[in-house]
Amino acid sequence: AKASGRNNHQFFTERMNQAAALHFELESSLRGALAKEEFELFYQPIMDIGTRQVHTMEVLLRWRRPEHGLILPDHFIPIIEENGLVVPVGEWVIRRACEQSMAWQQMGLQPVPLAVNLSPRQFMNRGLIDSIRRILDETGIDPALLEFEITETALMQHGEQTLEILGQINAMGIRLSIDDFGTGYSSLAYLKRFPVRKLKIDRAFIKDLEESAEDRAIVCAIIALSNSLQLSVVAEGVETEGQFDILLQNGCRFAQGYLFSQPTESAAAQALLRPA
Ligand code: C2E
Ligand code: CA
Ligand code: CA
Ligand code: CA
Repeated sequence: AKASGRNNHQFFTERMNQAAALHFELESSLRGALAKEEFELFYQPIMDIGTRQVHTMEVLLRWRRPEHGLILPDHFIPIIEENGLVVPVGEWVIRRACEQSMAWQQMGLQPVPLAVNLSPRQFMNRGLIDSIRRILDETGIDPALLEFEITETALMQHGEQTLEILGQINAMGIRLSIDDFGTGYSSLAYLKRFPVRKLKIDRAFIKDLEESAEDRAIVCAIIALSNSLQLSVVAEGVETEGQFDILLQNGCRFAQGYLFSQPTESAAAQALLRPA
């Protein structure tokens, strides 16, 4: 028993070393990825439920890692969030999104706002406001065509400072929305103190909307309360007509999900835009 215990231990240590080596390799590739222009933006439409037209596009980061293909953000955002690389990468995302918006406008397409995700680390970075100002200035984008999505959890972390940064972003004319709503611990009444216009109901509540009376009750309550507080609501991860119908019947104005479109590269996203 003792010997096998040692073997287990050895096996475990080897696996740990392997995992650490992989993590190290990933991290060092990520350090070079920005300079090597390996990051790319994908876009997913957020639809107006009433008109079934594209209302906004969410900007979603992808990493084209040589010899590995397209890497989804869940596999690398946590790493760059931890080592701080998310600050320059996040700044690149904002700039690239603004450039793309301007390029689409110059092609004569009807402008739709682009919604960019801000990570907690990026949000709390002291240089954020200046870098946003610089990007607005250099690209010439109308700030009304830019939105930032911040998770509920990130918002609840730092009281006073959060309020100040949100106020500065809002003063620039950029809209703010709360991402993954319902997964953290906040109340709508509390959120009303923030200069936020929109909330996005987390996919976790939409997934079983048709089967679960409980999820239906939660989603309907969020929609009703948001409507009465004059907050816009987006349902995330809408995949079926059944979910869509429930949302429509209960007064949800916006929806995003595979039912309408997967996130796509810029050429395919462009095809979803109408002439101005
Ligand atoms: P998120 O902000 O909640 O983005 C929505 C995610 O749900 C996206 O995953 C999208 O592809 C996925 N999704 C959309 N519709 C459906 C659906 O109908 N069904 C299912 N199953 N999934 C759907 P993605 O692109 O893999 O991004 C994952 C997360 O990575 C994002 O979650 C966001 O938190 C983060 N992320 C993405 N881009 C950025 C970025 O530029 N900066 C930062 N800081 N985070 C980002
Ligand atoms: Ca988001
Ligand atoms: Ca979300
Ligand atoms: Ca999420």
